[in-house]
Amino acid sequence: MRGKIIDTINGLLLFRKRTSLILLLVMSLAAAGIIVVNVYSVKILSGARAYVNGESEYSKGQKDASAYLINYINLHNKTDYFAFKNSIAIPKGDHIARVGLTTPPVDYKTVKEGLLAGKNHPEDIDNMIWLFETFKNVTMFKKAIEIWTEGDEMIYDLDQIGASAHDEIVKGTMSEDAKRAMIAAINKNSAALTIKEDAFSETLGNISRQINTEVLVANVLITLIIVLCSLTSAAIMIRNLSKSQKKILEQNERLQLINAGLDKFVFNVTHDLRSPLASIMGLINLMDDETDLEQIKEYTIMIKESLERQDRFINEMLTFIKSKHTGVNKTECSLSSIVDNVIAQNSHHNGGKRVHFYKELELTQIQSDALKLQVILNNLVSNSIKYSDAKKTEQWVKVKSYRHDKEVVIEVEDNGLGIRPKDQDRIFDKFYMSGDNKKSSGIGLYLVKDAVTQLDGKIEVRSEPGVCSKFRVIIPFS
Ligand code: ADP
Repeated sequence: MRGKIIDTINGLLLFRKRTSLILLLVMSLAAAGIIVVNVYSVKILSGARAYVNGESEYSKGQKDASAYLINYINLHNKTDYFAFKNSIAIPKGDHIARVGLTTPPVDYKTVKEGLLAGKNHPEDIDNMIWLFETFKNVTMFKKAIEIWTEGDEMIYDLDQIGASAHDEIVKGTMSEDAKRAMIAAINKNSAALTIKEDAFSETLGNISRQINTEVLVANVLITLIIVLCSLTSAAIMIRNLSKSQKKILEQNERLQLINAGLDKFVFNVTHDLRSPLASIMGLINLMDDETDLEQIKEYTIMIKESLERQDRFINEMLTFIKSKHTGVNKTECSLSSIVDNVIAQNSHHNGGKRVHFYKELELTQIQSDALKLQVILNNLVSNSIKYSDAKKTEQWVKVKSYRHDKEVVIEVEDNGLGIRPKDQDRIFDKFYMSGDNKKSSGIGLYLVKDAVTQLDGKIEVRSEPGVCSKFRVIIPFS
């Protein structure tokens, strides 16, 4: 029973451990998922922010360059030309970086120098390169790169205008018409670039917004998974706890019953061991004062009977203890030999000598546990002898066997004292003795029932007091 409780508790612990481990794994994965999603979203968003900042430097550089170039065309002041060159170097730096990133093998040194020339913050540069390389083929980012490429072409045009203006100013060949045409081209270029720059910023803004929404959805989903796992794990824990509590309570109740049974068992065993001893002591006392040899002989026979009873009882106890510890061991058994054995054992006892045995076996070989069959038949046959009716002229015991469908039926019938109907339901209980009989210990039929149950069978009794008793054992054929 203790082993059973430990098995149950171990089983529950194992189940709980396994389920908890799975839930813990899912929760850990979800937590890792949240970390990964957030780290990458922060990386992407800060990259996008760096590009937006870069774009504003690009735009400022282009606008300043356009303004300085117009001043230079109008006033021919060299300082304006140098300021133009410095300002246009910013978008040109970004252009070098973009071309470098799209031309394999990537020359990271040139790319970084380009981005630095584009007045991007040095700490943002690695992240900007990572974002470009990772997402260059993703639709929205691809669109931003296309706008950037178109913008770079216009920067090239502006640079070209600057170069030819400088050339004409240095040579002194710039006419008023050429001057007007150049200023108009610069303004047109600047207006078109402003559109591109706005489109670039808007695309990056859209990317940031989309990422924000996706990260929010991912965070909500992962949090839901974690909450669900926590709730499931709590529910399983509570259910298992109440299950194990219930199991332990049940086992406790059973243990209490077993304890009570053990008390009764010890009481009965000591009582049954003592009673033959008490009668032997009484007989010996009587023999002390007896001189009549015939009487002494009678006392000796009585002492022998008491000792035989005690011997039988001890044997039954041994069988009881043994049967508790052996499982079922089915082999090919000769029912005929087992019955012969049982009859031989029992016919030596006092009562057995006056009883006639009849053996009517239709089935002699079966697949079963020989030891258990021996226990069953020995107890049934010895009971038939013990409770035989001395008043009847012939006392008999019949052992029959036959097959019925897939079952074996073994019957032990006698014309003994019989069993009262009110006792018939209880004679298989441990220590139940019917009526006032002094030969009983109340364990034999309990052992029989136990053995039959272990063989997946059943036992029935039919009896008429004063006439006969028939015990029918039904067990599977194999
Ligand atoms: P015991 O081992 O002391 O005989 P059992 O458990 O075998 O105890 O039997 C329980 C009771 O059933 C006995 O007290 C007895 O009165 C009754 N009983 C069992 N077998 C027979 C039988 N063949 N004829 C009459 N009574 C019987």
